[in-house]
Amino acid sequence: MIDGGVPTIAGASIKEASVAAFKAGLRGQLLRPGDDNYDGARKIWNGMFDRRPALIARCAGTADVMSAVNFARDNGLPVAVRGGGHSFPGHSVCDGGLVIDLSPMRSIRVDPAARTARVQPGAKWIDFDHETQAFGLATTGGTASDTGIAGLTLGGGLGWLSSKHGLTVDNLLSADVVTADGRFLTASAEENQDLFWGLRGGSGNFGVVTSFDYQLHTVGPTILGGMVVYPVAQAKEVLRFYREFSKAAPDELTIYAGILNPPDRETVIALICCYCGPLGKGDAVVRPVKSFGSPLQDVLGPLPYAVQQSLTDAGFPSGSYYYTKGGFLADLTDQIIEVFAEYAATKPSPLSGVLVQTVFGAARRVDSKAMAFPHRSLPYAPVIVSQWLDAADSDKNVAWARDFWMALEPFAGGAYVNDLGRDDENRIRIAYGANYERLAALKKKYDPDNFFRLNPNIKPTV
Ligand SMILES: Cc1cc2nc3c(=O)[nH]c(=O)nc-3n(C[C@H](O)[C@H](O)[C@H](O)COP(=O)(O)OP(=O)(O)OC[C@H]3O[C@@H](n4cnc5c(N)ncnc54)[C@H](O)[C@@H]3O)c2cc1C
Repeated sequence: MIDGGVPTIAGASIKEASVAAFKAGLRGQLLRPGDDNYDGARKIWNGMFDRRPALIARCAGTADVMSAVNFARDNGLPVAVRGGGHSFPGHSVCDGGLVIDLSPMRSIRVDPAARTARVQPGAKWIDFDHETQAFGLATTGGTASDTGIAGLTLGGGLGWLSSKHGLTVDNLLSADVVTADGRFLTASAEENQDLFWGLRGGSGNFGVVTSFDYQLHTVGPTILGGMVVYPVAQAKEVLRFYREFSKAAPDELTIYAGILNPPDRETVIALICCYCGPLGKGDAVVRPVKSFGSPLQDVLGPLPYAVQQSLTDAGFPSGSYYYTKGGFLADLTDQIIEVFAEYAATKPSPLSGVLVQTVFGAARRVDSKAMAFPHRSLPYAPVIVSQWLDAADSDKNVAWARDFWMALEPFAGGAYVNDLGRDDENRIRIAYGANYERLAALKKKYDPDNFFRLNPNIKPTV
């Protein structure tokens, strides 16, 4: 135990007896500096953030989440909410304050008849796919299997099934939420509809979600996926082909372009595909990709959907230093392609790259005001990911991603909340687009004191 209690935002100190009572009331653990598991529990995916929370509540269930919210609010402690810990700007850990750590809450219940899944917020996509694929089911999730379902869902959710089945938020049926005043609410199309609207893209601004219900679809278990890989020197030709091909692709095919560094290899440009329709029809659909140009390697073919979901994992290990920039583009014009080629050739770290995600098909056909996530008409969503291993190299790697984005920004029409970087405060409003005013009014209703502020923050000002 540390003498003098836990410091609050106001500079006061919470008495040891209060901390002890809080700890005794939890089913999960309460960690403090000096505890055995403390250092492991404060680490997040992005090694840029070496923060030291005063307390980490490893919640075992909803009751712990309610206790944690009430304790932090009553004692004036700042709060960070952690799901899978993959926040690019490090929102899931704080200096001082309380981390509400949901990572022990990983249970998943699939209802194969109703094709739904009820999922706790500490689950990762690898957990989700494991449970749902046992029934030949899936829904749109992230492209790195270690990413948390919670943060990704609350920001929108772009993934390999987006063109066929929409974004992750388009498949959210309901959510249980603990709000800043400690209430437990269910939000769905039937209950607390305004909150449900805000949760689907509002990035954790309205409360801690303790359970998500998703619509599932028949997917795989074998899909047509993988990638065709070209030398990065061919980036311009490949991206021009990608532009035309992606626009004409059927909903069953989601295709990304990526400038990547496969482990132990030179930088390449890859066309990464996921065709989730009937296998017999897929060959003809992906044939133009397989027959384009002079690839270094063609590993596009039948494979388990779960393998597709972890295809890029090795490129984004936990603990590296990362800095990101990204946004939405209406098209990949020749001018934009020139920018991609220029920055692919000048990256200071071989580990860095850019992935062009998409909003096509079913993801695009949703009204931009149907829920908080607004960006339905800008189909290309590049995310520039700078990655390096030595803190001494930070400045040049941060500068590369910043300059790259500055060169793209004149062509950009919006930002994706889940891809905002650590210095993107001034881009939060455009990330919520035309839905910002309605979100601010909701924030005032559900979190008037801005208790949940360590996120792409919506100010309760309307
Ligand atoms: C390697 C990698 C790959 C990615 N790939 C994709 C992708 O394919 N598609 C895509 O759309 N995005 C992708 N992302 C971005 C990703 O969606 C965000 O980083 C997201 O925030 C991660 O969620 P998390 O739960 O892991 O993160 P955390 O860091 O745990 O959470 C991020 C923030 O979300 C909020 N939050 C988390 N859980 C809750 C909860 N239960 N209740 C309320 N608020 C909560 C909090 O504000 C928290 O700080 C990727 C990120 C990484 C690092």
